[in-house]
This record gives sequence, C-alpha cells and structure tokens, in this order.
Amino acid sequence: PFDVLVVGGGPAGAAAAIYSARKGIRTGIVADRFGGQVMDTVGIENFISVKATEGPKLAASLEEHVRDYDVDIMTQQRASRIVAAEQVGDLIQVELESGATLKSRSLVIATGARWREMNVPGEQEYRGKGVAYCPHCDGPLFKGKKVAVIGGGNSGIEAAIDLAGIVEHVTVLEFDSKLRADEVLQRKARSMGNIDIITEALTTEVLGDGEKVTGLRYTDRATDESKAVELSGIFVQIGLVPNAEFLKGTLELTPRGEIIVGAQGETSLPGVFAAGDVTIAPYKQIIIAMGSGANAALGAFDYLIRTPEP
Ligand code: FAD
Repeated sequence: PFDVLVVGGGPAGAAAAIYSARKGIRTGIVADRFGGQVMDTVGIENFISVKATEGPKLAASLEEHVRDYDVDIMTQQRASRIVAAEQVGDLIQVELESGATLKSRSLVIATGARWREMNVPGEQEYRGKGVAYCPHCDGPLFKGKKVAVIGGGNSGIEAAIDLAGIVEHVTVLEFDSKLRADEVLQRKARSMGNIDIITEALTTEVLGDGEKVTGLRYTDRATDESKAVELSGIFVQIGLVPNAEFLKGTLELTPRGEIIVGAQGETSLPGVFAAGDVTIAPYKQIIIAMGSGANAALGAFDYLIRTPEP
C-alpha cells in the first residue's frame, strides 16, 4: 500500500507527488493523462519565472520532475470509485476502471476540471486559433482586436469586463433572455463603452479562414434569424465542470460538484485531501493548482504522522 496516493497527473497532482516523495514516504500517482489540461494549452505566459512556454513542454517537464523521485506512476488509468476506510487510519481504496484496486493510507484527489464546450462546427478546428476558454491566459493575445464572450453568467461578464480593458471591442452572447451574472457585474459591464450584450442568441458556428477565427454565426431566438459577427477571438464561458463525478456520495461536494476543502486541503473524509481545479478554489490556474497540490501533500503528511499505521 501507499502512504500517499495522488489521483490525477496535472499541475496539482504533480506537485502533490513531489512534495510527498520528498518526505520519504511511499508515494504513487494514478492518472488518466499526465499533464492534464496543460496538454491542451498552446501558449503559457503566466507561469511565474518562465516568461513563455507551451503546454506540452511544461507537461513534459512536470513528468520529468516527478520521475526524478521514487514515485510509482500509473498512467492511462481512471479512478471510478473510492472506498473510505472502516476506521480512521485504515487503508482507503481506489477502484480503477480497469478493475484493479489500489490501497493507500491517504489520498490527494487532483482530477481537475474541463471547460464546457459549445459543440458547434468550427469550435474544435479553431481551438487555440481564436477559440479560447481562459481570459486570464489568452486575453492579451487579442490586444486591440474584436472578440466575443459566450455566456452571460458571472464568469462570462467577468471575462467581458476583463477583456474590455485589453481588446478593442467585446460582444457578449447569452442564450437566455437575460443575463445570470450578479447585478453589480452587469452594471459595470454596461457602463463600459466597448461591450455590447446580445441576449437570446444561440451560437451556431465558429467561422474561420482555415488558419484562424474570423467570426461567428448565431441565431437570434426572438426572430429565428441567422446573423454573423466579425471578430478574431471567441471566449467560451459556459461553465467549468469538475472531474468529481466518481466521488458523488463519498465526499462532500458543492452543488456544482466541486470538492469542499479546508485550509490544509482536507476533505470531509479523514485521510482524503484534494487540490487544484477539482476543488472550490475560486481561480483555476496552473500556478495556483501547483501551490494547492503542495499544500494538500503537506496536509496529508501532517495527517499521517498523527495517525497510527493500520
Ligand atoms: P488538470 O490539469 O485538469 O489535471 C487533472 C488530472 O487528473 C489529469 O492528469 C487527468 O488525466 C486526471 N484525471 C481526471 N479524472 C481522473 C480520474 N477519474 N482518474 C484518474 N485521473 C483522472 N492556466 C494558466 O495558469 N495559464 C494558462 O495559460 C492556461 N491556459 C489554459 C488553456 C486551456 C485551453 C485550458 C483548458 C486551461 C488553461 N489553464 C491555464 C488552466 C490550467 O490548465 C488549469 O488550471 C490546471 O491545469 C489545473 O491543474 P489540475 O492539476 O488541478 O487539473
């Protein structure tokens, strides 16, 4: 059995594994895909101390750093269920989709999240070529250009306000007849001269010239008319889904499915810690996920030295 078993191999999981291994305790990491969302990222310019890098490059360095330690790495394996210990201090089990079961005295869950996609033609083709999901990350790439934000919830309107300070113009497209964002955000957005808000708009297609985004097409649901907007960037802000479905019923989650954690990354289940985008952490970023992975690993170590071995 492991002392610490990390579930997830993104920035949070990699940091947790390294911090655990450096304590000289038996550490394992089980992940579907090493690197996580970083593998889907093109340019990264906000990983402090590295001026600019690319997702697959950073993911390879993460893996190399983890492999430098005595960590049992199991990739292409998905956890399907965790089974709590009968008594605090007993082994916790992680069941894998392959049918195998892993046992550990403590866990760090770092299974991350995924952006909800529009599922319209052109979205995949122009992902990273104008179709973006993270305004903090990619906003500056559209300096002085026209962009759209899809989604009028808090994240969409926050993105519009953020982007309006950088780009020439922002068009917000909301499917519903009204915005769901907090009133104060809506007021702020409406007060900015370069934000237009279109409600009852169903985005139907991402338009491009083969190399990059040139616009989008939407249906005006009030009139059923199809309309086109010319722009260079489309920020999709229709939700971030935590990869925590497999934990339902075992750990306390928010209504949105995020794992509730305390200051040391502890969850509602003794010995189970969590870190990164899968948790209630309000800002989902690489550097933040790494910090929280380190924090959860130290929390798990603290738990282990206070809990008798089974
Ligand atoms: P993830 O990176 O999501 O990793 C989750 C890990 O868990 C993966 O290894 C996955 O395979 C594994 N996993 C999931 N479910 C299971 C399961 N059931 N069993 C086993 N393993 C499982 N942030 C920045 O700071 N700067 C940027 O420029 C930036 N650009 C981005 C661009 C894009 C397109 C995207 C999608 C995100 C971007 N982000 C950026 C956000 C950043 O990638 C995330 O905040 C960060 O990767 C979160 O790390 P994490 O370890 O919590 O989760």
